[in-house]
Amino acid sequence: MESKTTNGELRDVVILGAGAAGSWAAWRAAAEGVKDVLLLEKTPRLGTKILASGGTRCNLTTTLGPDEAAELFGTAGSRFLRRAFRTLPPQKLREFFAELGVPTLIAPLEKVFPMSGQAKDVRDALLSAVEMTGVELRLNAEATSIQPLSGEQASWSVQLQGGEVILAKRLVLATGGMSYPGAGTTGDGYPWVRKLGLDFVAPVPALAPIQSAETWVHELAGNSLQDVEIRLLNDNGKELGRRRRPLLFTHTGVSGPGAMDLSGIIARTMEDGAGAASIKGWTLRADLMPDVTREELRQVLIAVAALPGGPLLMRGLPIVLSERFPMLEVPSKRILNEVFQEAGLSSRAGHQALTKSARHALIEALKGLKIPVSGTLGFEKAEVTSGGLALRSVDPGTCRVRGLENLWVIGELLDVDGPIGGLNFQAAFATGEICALDLAKQL
Ligand SMILES: Cc1cc2nc3c(=O)[nH]c(=O)nc-3n(C[C@H](O)[C@H](O)[C@H](O)COP(=O)(O)OP(=O)(O)OC[C@H]3O[C@@H](n4cnc5c(N)ncnc54)[C@H](O)[C@@H]3O)c2cc1C
Repeated sequence: MESKTTNGELRDVVILGAGAAGSWAAWRAAAEGVKDVLLLEKTPRLGTKILASGGTRCNLTTTLGPDEAAELFGTAGSRFLRRAFRTLPPQKLREFFAELGVPTLIAPLEKVFPMSGQAKDVRDALLSAVEMTGVELRLNAEATSIQPLSGEQASWSVQLQGGEVILAKRLVLATGGMSYPGAGTTGDGYPWVRKLGLDFVAPVPALAPIQSAETWVHELAGNSLQDVEIRLLNDNGKELGRRRRPLLFTHTGVSGPGAMDLSGIIARTMEDGAGAASIKGWTLRADLMPDVTREELRQVLIAVAALPGGPLLMRGLPIVLSERFPMLEVPSKRILNEVFQEAGLSSRAGHQALTKSARHALIEALKGLKIPVSGTLGFEKAEVTSGGLALRSVDPGTCRVRGLENLWVIGELLDVDGPIGGLNFQAAFATGEICALDLAKQL
Protein backbone atom coordinates (compact mmCIF):
# COMPACT_ATOMS: atom_id res chain seq x y z
CA MET A 1 0.00 0.00 0.00
CA GLU A 2 2.92 2.35 0.67
CA SER A 3 4.15 4.45 -2.21
CA LYS A 4 7.51 6.08 -2.76
CA THR A 5 5.96 8.97 -4.68
CA THR A 6 7.69 12.21 -3.77
CA ASN A 7 6.55 14.69 -6.40
CA GLY A 8 4.25 17.42 -5.12
CA GLU A 9 4.41 20.36 -2.75
CA LEU A 10 5.72 19.36 0.70
CA ARG A 11 3.87 20.74 3.74
CA ASP A 12 4.31 20.17 7.44
CA VAL A 13 0.65 19.75 8.53
CA VAL A 14 -2.17 19.14 6.08
CA ILE A 15 -5.72 19.08 7.44
CA LEU A 16 -8.50 17.75 5.23
CA GLY A 17 -11.88 19.36 5.91
CA ALA A 18 -12.51 22.89 7.21
CA GLY A 19 -15.54 22.04 9.34
CA ALA A 20 -15.73 22.50 13.10
CA ALA A 21 -12.98 20.00 13.95
CA GLY A 22 -10.56 20.79 11.12
CA SER A 23 -10.81 24.58 11.50
CA TRP A 24 -10.35 24.33 15.24
CA ALA A 25 -7.32 22.03 14.94
CA ALA A 26 -5.79 24.30 12.29
CA TRP A 27 -5.94 27.60 14.14
CA ARG A 28 -5.06 26.09 17.50
CA ALA A 29 -2.03 24.23 16.09
CA ALA A 30 -0.87 27.46 14.44
CA ALA A 31 -1.51 29.45 17.61
CA GLU A 32 0.58 26.92 19.53
CA GLY A 33 3.51 27.47 17.17
CA VAL A 34 3.09 25.08 14.24
CA LYS A 35 4.43 27.15 11.33
CA ASP A 36 3.12 25.47 8.23
CA VAL A 37 -0.54 24.42 8.35
CA LEU A 38 -2.51 23.85 5.17
CA LEU A 39 -6.29 23.50 5.57
CA LEU A 40 -8.12 22.06 2.58
CA GLU A 41 -11.87 22.34 2.15
CA LYS A 42 -13.89 20.97 -0.70
CA THR A 43 -16.82 23.43 -0.51
CA PRO A 44 -16.45 27.13 -1.34
CA ARG A 45 -16.44 28.10 2.36
CA LEU A 46 -15.10 27.20 5.77
CA GLY A 47 -17.65 25.86 8.27
CA THR A 48 -20.49 25.17 5.85
CA LYS A 49 -22.32 23.01 8.38
CA ILE A 50 -21.78 25.48 11.22
CA LEU A 51 -23.81 28.01 9.23
CA ALA A 52 -26.77 25.63 9.09
CA SER A 53 -26.50 24.50 12.69
CA GLY A 54 -28.88 25.01 15.58
CA GLY A 55 -31.53 26.50 13.30
CA THR A 56 -28.80 28.97 12.15
CA ARG A 57 -28.15 29.91 15.80
CA CYS A 58 -25.38 27.29 16.35
CA ASN A 59 -25.66 25.52 19.66
CA LEU A 60 -21.89 25.42 19.94
CA THR A 61 -21.51 23.65 23.27
CA THR A 62 -23.23 22.72 26.52
CA THR A 63 -23.38 24.00 30.09
CA LEU A 64 -22.51 20.52 31.37
CA GLY A 65 -19.13 19.75 32.88
CA PRO A 66 -16.64 17.71 30.83
CA ASP A 67 -17.39 14.32 32.37
CA GLU A 68 -21.16 14.78 32.34
CA ALA A 69 -21.01 15.87 28.70
CA ALA A 70 -18.81 12.93 27.72
CA GLU A 71 -21.20 10.49 29.42
CA LEU A 72 -23.91 11.38 26.91
CA PHE A 73 -21.88 9.65 24.17
CA GLY A 74 -22.51 6.13 25.49
CA THR A 75 -20.03 3.82 27.16
CA ALA A 76 -17.33 3.65 24.48
CA GLY A 77 -17.82 7.24 23.34
CA SER A 78 -17.57 8.63 26.85
CA ARG A 79 -14.46 6.64 27.65
CA PHE A 80 -12.86 7.95 24.48
CA LEU A 81 -13.93 11.60 24.81
CA ARG A 82 -13.28 12.14 28.50
CA ARG A 83 -9.67 13.23 28.00
CA ALA A 84 -10.49 15.55 25.12
CA PHE A 85 -13.36 17.10 27.10
CA ARG A 86 -11.12 17.61 30.12
CA THR A 87 -8.53 19.29 27.92
CA LEU A 88 -11.13 21.55 26.31
CA PRO A 89 -14.09 21.65 28.70
CA PRO A 90 -17.26 23.39 27.51
CA GLN A 91 -16.54 26.37 29.76
CA LYS A 92 -13.05 26.81 28.29
CA LEU A 93 -14.48 26.56 24.79
CA ARG A 94 -16.83 29.43 25.63
CA GLU A 95 -13.87 31.45 26.90
CA PHE A 96 -12.00 30.81 23.66
CA PHE A 97 -14.99 31.98 21.63
CA ALA A 98 -15.37 35.07 23.84
CA GLU A 99 -11.72 35.90 23.09
CA LEU A 100 -12.47 35.41 19.40
CA GLY A 101 -15.25 38.01 19.73
CA VAL A 102 -18.19 35.65 20.19
CA PRO A 103 -19.63 35.92 23.69
CA THR A 104 -22.14 33.20 24.45
CA LEU A 105 -25.32 32.79 26.42
CA ILE A 106 -27.03 29.90 28.16
CA ALA A 107 -30.38 28.62 26.91
CA PRO A 108 -32.72 25.98 28.39
CA LEU A 109 -31.77 22.30 28.20
CA GLU A 110 -28.07 23.00 28.87
CA LYS A 111 -27.56 24.69 25.51
CA VAL A 112 -25.06 27.43 24.71
CA PHE A 113 -25.50 29.83 21.77
CA PRO A 114 -23.62 32.88 20.54
CA MET A 115 -25.12 35.94 22.21
CA SER A 116 -25.92 37.38 18.80
CA GLY A 117 -28.00 34.29 17.95
CA GLN A 118 -26.06 34.05 14.68
CA ALA A 119 -24.29 30.86 13.59
CA LYS A 120 -22.44 33.03 11.08
CA ASP A 121 -20.60 34.75 13.94
CA VAL A 122 -19.20 31.40 15.09
CA ARG A 123 -18.11 30.56 11.57
CA ASP A 124 -16.63 34.02 10.98
CA ALA A 125 -14.70 33.84 14.25
CA LEU A 126 -13.14 30.54 13.22
CA LEU A 127 -12.32 31.94 9.79
CA SER A 128 -10.63 34.98 11.37
CA ALA A 129 -8.72 32.76 13.79
CA VAL A 130 -7.51 30.63 10.89
CA GLU A 131 -6.44 33.70 8.92
CA MET A 132 -4.86 35.52 11.86
CA THR A 133 -2.73 32.57 12.90
CA GLY A 134 -1.29 32.21 9.40
CA VAL A 135 -3.01 28.97 8.42
CA GLU A 136 -3.25 28.61 4.65
CA LEU A 137 -6.87 27.89 3.78
CA ARG A 138 -7.66 26.52 0.35
CA LEU A 139 -11.32 26.36 -0.60
CA ASN A 140 -12.82 24.31 -3.44
CA ALA A 141 -9.97 21.87 -2.78
CA GLU A 142 -11.35 18.36 -2.65
CA ALA A 143 -9.07 15.54 -1.58
CA THR A 144 -9.79 12.37 -3.52
CA SER A 145 -7.32 9.95 -1.93
CA ILE A 146 -4.55 9.67 0.63
CA GLN A 147 -1.55 7.38 0.63
CA PRO A 148 1.14 6.57 3.18
CA LEU A 149 4.69 7.16 1.95
CA SER A 150 7.92 5.51 2.89
CA GLY A 151 10.03 8.52 1.93
CA GLU A 152 12.15 10.32 4.53
CA GLN A 153 10.49 13.71 4.28
CA ALA A 154 6.82 13.12 3.82
CA SER A 155 4.67 10.53 5.50
CA TRP A 156 1.56 11.05 3.38
CA SER A 157 0.50 12.09 -0.06
CA VAL A 158 -2.87 13.65 -0.72
CA GLN A 159 -4.34 13.66 -4.19
CA LEU A 160 -6.72 16.49 -5.04
CA GLN A 161 -9.53 16.64 -7.56
CA GLY A 162 -7.87 17.74 -10.77
CA GLY A 163 -4.75 15.67 -10.15
CA GLU A 164 -2.62 17.90 -7.92
CA VAL A 165 -0.63 16.04 -5.28
CA ILE A 166 0.36 17.50 -1.91
CA LEU A 167 2.88 15.82 0.35
CA ALA A 168 2.43 16.03 4.09
CA LYS A 169 4.75 15.35 6.96
CA ARG A 170 1.68 15.10 9.15
CA LEU A 171 -1.88 14.52 8.02
CA VAL A 172 -5.15 15.21 9.87
CA LEU A 173 -8.43 13.80 8.56
CA ALA A 174 -11.44 15.94 9.48
CA THR A 175 -13.85 15.25 6.64
CA GLY A 176 -16.85 14.61 8.91
CA GLY A 177 -19.60 12.05 8.38
CA MET A 178 -22.21 11.69 5.67
CA SER A 179 -25.28 13.43 7.05
CA TYR A 180 -26.57 16.52 5.25
CA PRO A 181 -24.56 15.63 2.14
CA GLY A 182 -25.46 19.00 0.62
CA ALA A 183 -23.07 20.57 3.17
CA GLY A 184 -20.09 18.75 1.61
CA THR A 185 -20.10 15.76 3.93
CA THR A 186 -20.44 12.72 1.71
CA GLY A 187 -18.40 10.23 3.71
CA ASP A 188 -15.21 10.89 1.73
CA GLY A 189 -12.94 9.83 4.59
CA TYR A 190 -14.58 6.42 5.01
CA PRO A 191 -12.93 4.60 2.07
CA TRP A 192 -9.58 6.14 3.01
CA VAL A 193 -9.53 4.75 6.54
CA ARG A 194 -10.95 1.43 5.37
CA LYS A 195 -8.26 1.10 2.74
CA LEU A 196 -5.65 1.62 5.44
CA GLY A 197 -7.01 -1.52 7.11
CA LEU A 198 -8.37 0.36 10.12
CA ASP A 199 -11.39 -0.89 12.07
CA PHE A 200 -14.55 0.76 10.88
CA VAL A 201 -18.13 0.92 12.16
CA ALA A 202 -20.75 1.11 9.39
CA PRO A 203 -22.25 4.61 9.26
CA VAL A 204 -25.93 5.16 10.01
CA PRO A 205 -27.90 8.39 10.29
CA ALA A 206 -28.42 9.73 13.82
CA LEU A 207 -30.33 12.74 15.16
CA ALA A 208 -32.85 12.32 12.34
CA PRO A 209 -36.63 12.74 12.43
CA ILE A 210 -38.45 9.44 13.04
CA GLN A 211 -41.01 8.14 10.58
CA SER A 212 -44.37 6.70 11.54
CA ALA A 213 -46.83 5.16 9.11
CA GLU A 214 -49.82 6.14 11.29
CA THR A 215 -52.12 8.70 9.68
CA TRP A 216 -53.14 10.19 13.02
CA VAL A 217 -49.50 11.05 13.72
CA HIS A 218 -49.22 12.91 10.38
CA GLU A 219 -52.48 14.70 11.08
CA LEU A 220 -51.00 16.16 14.25
CA ALA A 221 -48.24 17.90 12.21
CA GLY A 222 -47.33 21.21 13.81
CA ASN A 223 -48.37 20.14 17.33
CA SER A 224 -45.56 19.95 19.84
CA LEU A 225 -44.90 19.10 23.47
CA GLN A 226 -42.11 20.91 25.24
CA ASP A 227 -41.70 18.63 28.24
CA VAL A 228 -42.30 15.01 27.42
CA GLU A 229 -40.48 11.82 28.34
CA ILE A 230 -40.11 9.50 25.39
CA ARG A 231 -39.17 5.86 25.59
CA LEU A 232 -38.25 3.71 22.62
CA LEU A 233 -39.59 0.15 22.99
CA ASN A 234 -38.96 -2.84 20.76
CA ASP A 235 -41.63 -5.38 19.78
CA ASN A 236 -41.08 -7.26 23.07
CA GLY A 237 -41.63 -4.11 25.09
CA LYS A 238 -37.95 -3.82 26.01
CA GLU A 239 -36.85 -0.24 26.58
CA LEU A 240 -34.00 0.69 24.22
CA GLY A 241 -33.63 4.36 25.07
CA ARG A 242 -35.27 7.22 26.91
CA ARG A 243 -35.08 11.01 26.57
CA ARG A 244 -36.90 13.87 28.22
CA ARG A 245 -36.87 16.53 25.56
CA PRO A 246 -39.35 18.40 23.30
CA LEU A 247 -41.30 16.44 20.68
CA LEU A 248 -42.80 17.73 17.45
CA PHE A 249 -45.35 15.97 15.26
CA THR A 250 -44.63 16.23 11.51
CA HIS A 251 -46.20 15.15 8.22
CA THR A 252 -44.02 12.02 8.24
CA GLY A 253 -43.77 11.17 11.95
CA VAL A 254 -42.09 12.88 14.89
CA SER A 255 -39.16 15.21 15.22
CA GLY A 256 -37.67 17.51 17.86
CA PRO A 257 -34.78 16.57 20.16
CA GLY A 258 -36.77 13.92 22.07
CA ALA A 259 -37.40 11.86 18.95
CA MET A 260 -34.19 12.67 17.10
CA ASP A 261 -31.97 11.66 20.02
CA LEU A 262 -33.46 8.15 19.81
CA SER A 263 -33.32 7.78 16.03
CA GLY A 264 -29.77 6.38 15.87
CA ILE A 265 -30.90 3.21 17.69
CA ILE A 266 -33.57 2.64 15.04
CA ALA A 267 -31.18 3.31 12.14
CA ARG A 268 -28.48 1.05 13.64
CA THR A 269 -30.94 -1.83 14.06
CA MET A 270 -32.21 -1.40 10.49
CA GLU A 271 -28.60 -1.44 9.24
CA ASP A 272 -27.57 -4.48 11.29
CA GLY A 273 -30.84 -6.40 10.90
CA ALA A 274 -33.29 -6.96 8.08
CA GLY A 275 -34.00 -3.31 7.28
CA ALA A 276 -37.48 -2.05 8.16
CA ALA A 277 -38.57 -5.59 9.11
CA SER A 278 -36.13 -5.54 12.04
CA ILE A 279 -38.02 -2.69 13.73
CA LYS A 280 -41.49 -4.13 13.17
CA GLY A 281 -43.62 -3.53 16.25
CA TRP A 282 -41.33 -0.83 17.66
CA THR A 283 -43.01 2.14 19.30
CA LEU A 284 -42.24 5.41 20.99
CA ARG A 285 -44.14 5.90 24.23
CA ALA A 286 -44.63 9.54 25.13
CA ASP A 287 -45.29 10.40 28.76
CA LEU A 288 -47.15 13.67 28.28
CA MET A 289 -47.10 14.53 31.98
CA PRO A 290 -43.75 13.25 33.26
CA ASP A 291 -43.96 15.19 36.52
CA VAL A 292 -47.46 13.97 37.38
CA THR A 293 -47.86 10.54 38.96
CA ARG A 294 -50.55 8.04 37.99
CA GLU A 295 -52.20 8.57 41.37
CA GLU A 296 -52.28 12.35 40.83
CA LEU A 297 -53.84 11.78 37.42
CA ARG A 298 -56.42 9.48 39.01
CA GLN A 299 -57.34 12.31 41.40
CA VAL A 300 -57.54 14.72 38.46
CA LEU A 301 -59.97 12.43 36.63
CA ILE A 302 -62.11 12.00 39.73
CA ALA A 303 -62.25 15.81 39.98
CA VAL A 304 -63.15 16.07 36.27
CA ALA A 305 -66.07 13.70 36.80
CA ALA A 306 -67.27 15.87 39.69
CA LEU A 307 -67.13 19.18 37.77
CA PRO A 308 -70.40 21.10 38.00
CA GLY A 309 -72.44 21.01 34.81
CA GLY A 310 -70.80 17.73 33.74
CA PRO A 311 -68.79 19.11 30.77
CA LEU A 312 -67.38 16.77 28.15
CA LEU A 313 -64.22 15.08 29.42
CA MET A 314 -62.25 16.76 26.65
CA ARG A 315 -63.20 20.15 28.07
CA GLY A 316 -62.99 19.23 31.74
CA LEU A 317 -59.58 17.54 31.69
CA PRO A 318 -57.52 20.61 30.61
CA ILE A 319 -59.41 22.74 33.16
CA VAL A 320 -58.55 20.51 36.12
CA LEU A 321 -55.01 19.81 34.90
CA SER A 322 -54.16 23.50 34.64
CA GLU A 323 -55.83 24.25 37.98
CA ARG A 324 -53.84 21.57 39.80
CA PHE A 325 -50.57 21.92 37.89
CA PRO A 326 -50.43 25.56 36.75
CA MET A 327 -46.73 25.33 35.88
CA LEU A 328 -47.13 22.35 33.58
CA GLU A 329 -47.89 22.32 29.88
CA VAL A 330 -51.31 20.88 29.07
CA PRO A 331 -51.28 18.96 25.75
CA SER A 332 -53.15 20.61 22.88
CA LYS A 333 -56.74 19.64 22.19
CA ARG A 334 -55.70 17.71 19.09
CA ILE A 335 -53.15 15.68 21.03
CA LEU A 336 -55.67 15.03 23.81
CA ASN A 337 -58.06 13.83 21.14
CA GLU A 338 -55.56 11.09 20.23
CA VAL A 339 -55.07 10.26 23.90
CA PHE A 340 -58.83 9.72 24.16
CA GLN A 341 -58.82 7.56 21.02
CA GLU A 342 -56.02 5.41 22.44
CA ALA A 343 -57.97 5.01 25.67
CA GLY A 344 -60.98 3.87 23.65
CA LEU A 345 -62.99 6.98 24.54
CA SER A 346 -64.84 9.28 22.20
CA SER A 347 -63.76 12.91 22.22
CA ARG A 348 -67.43 13.65 22.96
CA ALA A 349 -67.51 11.38 26.01
CA GLY A 350 -69.16 12.81 29.09
CA HIS A 351 -68.15 12.21 32.71
CA GLN A 352 -70.42 9.15 32.98
CA ALA A 353 -68.02 7.40 30.52
CA LEU A 354 -65.29 7.61 33.11
CA THR A 355 -65.57 4.12 34.53
CA LYS A 356 -62.73 2.67 36.55
CA SER A 357 -61.33 0.87 33.51
CA ALA A 358 -61.74 3.96 31.26
CA ARG A 359 -59.92 6.00 33.89
CA HIS A 360 -57.10 3.47 33.91
CA ALA A 361 -56.90 3.47 30.09
CA LEU A 362 -56.83 7.27 30.00
CA ILE A 363 -54.07 7.46 32.60
CA GLU A 364 -52.00 4.90 30.68
CA ALA A 365 -52.50 6.80 27.40
CA LEU A 366 -51.41 10.07 29.06
CA LYS A 367 -48.37 8.37 30.59
CA GLY A 368 -47.41 6.49 27.41
CA LEU A 369 -49.06 7.64 24.19
CA LYS A 370 -48.13 4.97 21.68
CA ILE A 371 -46.46 6.20 18.47
CA PRO A 372 -45.62 3.33 16.08
CA VAL A 373 -42.24 3.67 14.37
CA SER A 374 -41.39 2.72 10.77
CA GLY A 375 -37.90 4.18 10.21
CA THR A 376 -35.99 7.46 10.12
CA LEU A 377 -35.63 10.15 7.49
CA GLY A 378 -32.03 9.05 6.86
CA PHE A 379 -28.80 10.87 6.05
CA GLU A 380 -30.52 13.66 4.12
CA LYS A 381 -32.13 14.93 7.32
CA ALA A 382 -29.81 13.53 9.99
CA GLU A 383 -27.77 16.03 11.98
CA VAL A 384 -24.95 13.57 12.57
CA THR A 385 -23.58 10.22 11.51
CA SER A 386 -23.21 7.36 13.95
CA GLY A 387 -20.32 5.07 13.04
CA GLY A 388 -16.98 5.83 11.37
CA LEU A 389 -13.41 5.07 12.39
CA ALA A 390 -13.56 2.66 15.35
CA LEU A 391 -12.38 4.31 18.55
CA ARG A 392 -9.98 1.48 19.38
CA SER A 393 -7.91 2.58 16.37
CA VAL A 394 -7.26 6.01 17.89
CA ASP A 395 -5.36 7.27 20.93
CA PRO A 396 -7.90 9.18 23.09
CA GLY A 397 -5.27 11.58 24.42
CA THR A 398 -4.15 12.87 21.02
CA CYS A 399 -6.46 11.49 18.30
CA ARG A 400 -3.43 9.88 16.66
CA VAL A 401 -4.25 6.78 14.68
CA ARG A 402 -2.59 3.79 16.28
CA GLY A 403 -0.08 1.85 14.21
CA LEU A 404 0.29 4.47 11.47
CA GLU A 405 2.88 7.24 11.47
CA ASN A 406 1.80 10.87 11.53
CA LEU A 407 -1.92 10.42 11.00
CA TRP A 408 -4.68 11.97 13.13
CA VAL A 409 -8.46 11.59 12.82
CA ILE A 410 -10.80 14.08 14.51
CA GLY A 411 -14.47 15.08 14.62
CA GLU A 412 -17.37 13.19 13.21
CA LEU A 413 -15.25 10.90 11.04
CA LEU A 414 -14.66 9.10 14.32
CA ASP A 415 -17.31 6.73 15.66
CA VAL A 416 -18.67 9.30 18.13
CA ASP A 417 -22.12 10.84 18.16
CA GLY A 418 -23.99 12.47 20.99
CA PRO A 419 -27.50 13.78 21.55
CA ILE A 420 -28.75 17.22 20.53
CA GLY A 421 -27.54 20.05 22.75
CA GLY A 422 -24.18 21.34 21.50
CA LEU A 423 -22.49 18.05 22.28
CA ASN A 424 -21.45 17.19 18.76
CA PHE A 425 -19.70 20.52 18.22
CA GLN A 426 -18.12 20.07 21.64
CA ALA A 427 -16.75 16.71 20.45
CA ALA A 428 -15.52 18.19 17.16
CA PHE A 429 -13.77 21.14 18.85
CA ALA A 430 -12.31 19.07 21.70
CA THR A 431 -10.88 16.37 19.43
CA GLY A 432 -9.48 19.19 17.27
CA GLU A 433 -7.89 20.68 20.37
CA ILE A 434 -6.05 17.55 21.54
CA CYS A 435 -4.84 16.95 17.99
CA ALA A 436 -3.57 20.55 17.76
CA LEU A 437 -1.72 20.28 21.07
CA ASP A 438 -0.14 17.02 19.95
CA LEU A 439 0.95 18.57 16.64
CA ALA A 440 2.52 21.46 18.56
CA LYS A 441 4.25 19.12 21.01
CA GLN A 442 6.24 17.57 18.18
CA LEU A 443 7.92 20.84 17.16
C1 LIG B 1 -28.62 20.90 10.16
C2 LIG B 1 -27.61 20.60 11.23
C3 LIG B 1 -27.66 21.27 12.42
C4 LIG B 1 -26.73 20.96 13.42
N1 LIG B 1 -26.79 21.67 14.59
C5 LIG B 1 -25.90 21.40 15.55
C6 LIG B 1 -25.88 22.17 16.76
O1 LIG B 1 -26.61 23.16 16.89
N2 LIG B 1 -25.01 21.79 17.74
C7 LIG B 1 -24.14 20.75 17.58
O2 LIG B 1 -23.36 20.46 18.50
N3 LIG B 1 -24.11 20.04 16.44
C8 LIG B 1 -24.95 20.35 15.43
N4 LIG B 1 -24.89 19.64 14.27
C9 LIG B 1 -23.85 18.61 14.12
C10 LIG B 1 -22.49 19.29 13.78
O3 LIG B 1 -22.68 20.14 12.69
C11 LIG B 1 -21.44 18.23 13.48
O4 LIG B 1 -21.39 17.29 14.50
C12 LIG B 1 -20.07 18.89 13.31
O5 LIG B 1 -20.11 19.84 12.27
C13 LIG B 1 -18.99 17.85 13.02
O6 LIG B 1 -17.79 18.53 12.81
P1 LIG B 1 -16.69 17.94 11.82
O7 LIG B 1 -15.67 19.01 11.68
O8 LIG B 1 -16.28 16.61 12.23
O9 LIG B 1 -17.45 17.78 10.44
P2 LIG B 1 -18.07 18.91 9.51
O10 LIG B 1 -18.35 20.12 10.28
O11 LIG B 1 -19.16 18.24 8.80
O12 LIG B 1 -16.88 19.27 8.53
C14 LIG B 1 -16.31 18.40 7.61
C15 LIG B 1 -15.77 19.25 6.48
O13 LIG B 1 -14.96 18.45 5.62
C16 LIG B 1 -15.21 18.84 4.29
N5 LIG B 1 -14.84 17.74 3.42
C17 LIG B 1 -15.49 16.55 3.28
N6 LIG B 1 -14.86 15.77 2.39
C18 LIG B 1 -13.78 16.49 1.96
C19 LIG B 1 -12.77 16.21 1.02
N7 LIG B 1 -12.74 15.08 0.31
N8 LIG B 1 -11.81 17.15 0.81
C20 LIG B 1 -11.83 18.33 1.50
N9 LIG B 1 -12.80 18.65 2.39
C21 LIG B 1 -13.76 17.73 2.62
C22 LIG B 1 -16.69 19.14 4.27
O14 LIG B 1 -17.05 19.95 3.19
C23 LIG B 1 -16.88 19.83 5.62
O15 LIG B 1 -16.70 21.23 5.51
C24 LIG B 1 -25.77 19.94 13.25
C25 LIG B 1 -25.73 19.28 12.02
C26 LIG B 1 -26.62 19.60 11.02
C27 LIG B 1 -26.53 18.88 9.71
